Amino acid sequence: MITVEHVNKRYDDFTALDDLNIIVPSGSLTALLGPSGSGKSTLLRSIAGLEHPDSGTITIAGRDITGVPPQQRGIGFVFQHYAAFTHMTVRENVAFGLTIRKQPKKQIAAKVDDLLGVVGLGGFQDRYPAQLSGGQRQRMALARALAIDPQVLLLDEPFGALDAKVREELRRWLRRLHREMHVTTVLVTHDQREALDVADRIAVLNTGRIEQVGSPADLYDRPATDFVMSFLGQIA
Ligand code: ATP
Ligand code: MG
Repeated sequence: MITVEHVNKRYDDFTALDDLNIIVPSGSLTALLGPSGSGKSTLLRSIAGLEHPDSGTITIAGRDITGVPPQQRGIGFVFQHYAAFTHMTVRENVAFGLTIRKQPKKQIAAKVDDLLGVVGLGGFQDRYPAQLSGGQRQRMALARALAIDPQVLLLDEPFGALDAKVREELRRWLRRLHREMHVTTVLVTHDQREALDVADRIAVLNTGRIEQVGSPADLYDRPATDFVMSFLGQIA
């Protein structure tokens, strides 16, 4: 479980996160929706430790992670434009988090083979990222994020730059991974259909505050605010 309590984050005189509270249950796949600039990436980056809130508390599995360095938070992160190491093969990219944690080589190799199989990239291990399609690269990114057995997976529009067909394929991978690994996942997406399709919970963010969190049915049948009603009403 992730708990975010009374978190504030300002950039100069702009409030990006405004006394924000949210609970993400263990093993859930929560989609985070909201307009551009509402604070979605800032929230994910704060959970990941890439951004430091001015106040408030974030816990993962009951542990207050304030001051814990990003690589010790047990978090896998995938961004929209995945920054792969271009000079490393797929295998080396996926192994990276394990290599820096100095795990035994044999163990790393077995783990990486396993994960590449899970994301359908068995046989691609000796390619370089430039030799992969966009969808394959994001699957490599997922494998890399999962390599460290994260307690939490944070996905910031991981499929945003890809065409509809590839997105659909990646959604299937994500659903499968989530089913198999039960990692507590937060997925930022602009795509409400994607949220409905993969998430068991939806959170709507507006101007740095959570407007509503609940099951997809809760939000669509019983929007708590006018904002949620009109925002979700925009579904095409
Ligand atoms: P998008 O959907 O466009 O990705 P978002 O919901 O992820 O938007 P954030 O990136 O979290 O939004 O940004 C929230 C607000 O904080 C925005 O108004 C943004 O301009 C501001 N902001 C984010 N990072 C910084 C920064 N490093 N310096 C100043 N302002 C920032
Ligand atoms: Mg963003």
